[in-house]
Amino acid sequence: MQPAPNQPPKNGLPTLRVLFLTAEAEPFIKVGGLGDVSGALPRALACLPPAEIGFNLDIILALPFHSAIQRDAFPVDRSISFSIPSTDGPIAGQAAVTRLDSIPVLLISGAPIPEDGPVYSMDTRADGDKFVFASLGALQAVRGMGWQPDVIHANDWHTAPAVYFVSIQRATDPFFRDLKTVLTIHNLPFIGVGTAPSMEKFGLPPVSGQGLPWWAEQLPLPVGLATADRIVTVSPGYSREILSPGHANGLESLLLSRKSRLSGILNGIDTESWNPAADPGINTRYDAFSLERRQSNKAFLQEVLTLPQQADIPLLAFIGRMDPQKGIDILIDSLHNMLDLEWQAVILGTGDETLEGRARDLEQASSGRLRAVLRYDNNLARQIYAGSDILVMPSRYEPCGLAQMIAMHYGCVPVAVAVGGLMDTIQRYPQDSNPTGFLVGKASPQSLAESLCQALEVFKDKTTWRGLQTNGMLKDFSWNQSARAYAQIYKLIEEEP
Ligand code: ADP
Repeated sequence: MQPAPNQPPKNGLPTLRVLFLTAEAEPFIKVGGLGDVSGALPRALACLPPAEIGFNLDIILALPFHSAIQRDAFPVDRSISFSIPSTDGPIAGQAAVTRLDSIPVLLISGAPIPEDGPVYSMDTRADGDKFVFASLGALQAVRGMGWQPDVIHANDWHTAPAVYFVSIQRATDPFFRDLKTVLTIHNLPFIGVGTAPSMEKFGLPPVSGQGLPWWAEQLPLPVGLATADRIVTVSPGYSREILSPGHANGLESLLLSRKSRLSGILNGIDTESWNPAADPGINTRYDAFSLERRQSNKAFLQEVLTLPQQADIPLLAFIGRMDPQKGIDILIDSLHNMLDLEWQAVILGTGDETLEGRARDLEQASSGRLRAVLRYDNNLARQIYAGSDILVMPSRYEPCGLAQMIAMHYGCVPVAVAVGGLMDTIQRYPQDSNPTGFLVGKASPQSLAESLCQALEVFKDKTTWRGLQTNGMLKDFSWNQSARAYAQIYKLIEEEP
């Protein structure tokens, strides 16, 4: 660990410099949970008291300057130019330096990062060029700034090329010699399929051995996993699950060979942004000690959704991507079989057209007690967390999941399949002490229907229900613990030879 040459620490403690690489980060751009995490974790790390962790943490966040990032919302201090070699010749890039609270942020641009189009496109080759270029560009930009990192923290396939590049360069380039790498897996099945030509273009050759299957030898996430100093998944449960063939997506040999380097750290939620006591996006603010105030949010939500305004009818909610991972089809099948019971429901999600169509069909069949809102709507999501009674998460797998944590924090009780981070964050009713929700044994319509029926029964017992809500609201879902755990990992690897 070296003292920072530019800003000598005033407290006599050493400084550890972390370059945090991501495809998306709030408030710049958010498509899914990765955006939540990458906006919140660097800020939580920067807030850790140096006296408690034993060192100063100096962080730079870097992400592509996606066209959807509002140009005028983030004032740029200066711009750093760099050049990345490729088989087409050197490609020029720029890092616009802006800030997120006290953290410098590099927004990487250059020809491979298109000036229009979505964050993630269907064109794997174009996405490959964009993210490989941005990963390597961030490394060159900090070099250009004279900022020598101690640790590169990459996230998912998009920035994994930086991890692999560092492992190659260590032998010959002093800038990278002592640099350590952490790679967090937020969603293992997304490995960068179709991007091998981009890896080749930017000089990243195939890796052989290490249990890597032939088809993965030049794909960003697998080569990152083969070469990272530490691999972290976003929950302890998921770090165990991905070692089994059912969840490893063909990478079990590789992951087993790296088991001693693999651990799980639960994500947190941004409790400043997600705070029912201060959320400007909800109708009536409340906390764990004024839960009765929550009722008016339910009435408001029922009005917004044109559902009958009845307090005693349990209001179920689904908020998430319309994707087989999230098990929305399982929920739809369950609800079709539960039409004789009393409930209302709202589905807020967008994605797969077939799944969206099935949600619309259920709305038709539900005689006005289910609304399918098929768009991305942050405001409505907040009103749903604050006003519905039960959040259903029938995920087939869930690396961590944020929605169930936000729901518990808002007094909305989760009914979720017992996988990955859902298992790690929900205290099961009635078995666990201080239960906060219901865990479904299997991702199937029958198992989900059984748990939903159980939840609907418990909902009638107002005292027990309020206990579930209060337990969830009083749980600590802040980033503080996770940030400390990441800081420990940075320190550990930095001290390793
Ligand atoms: P993912 O696998 O998509 O990252 P998470 O549960 O970890 O799932 O995080 C999803 C985040 O996106 C949560 O903050 C959730 O509220 C939000 N979200 C998902 N779909 C929608 C939507 N249609 N409208 C508003 N917010 C959404």
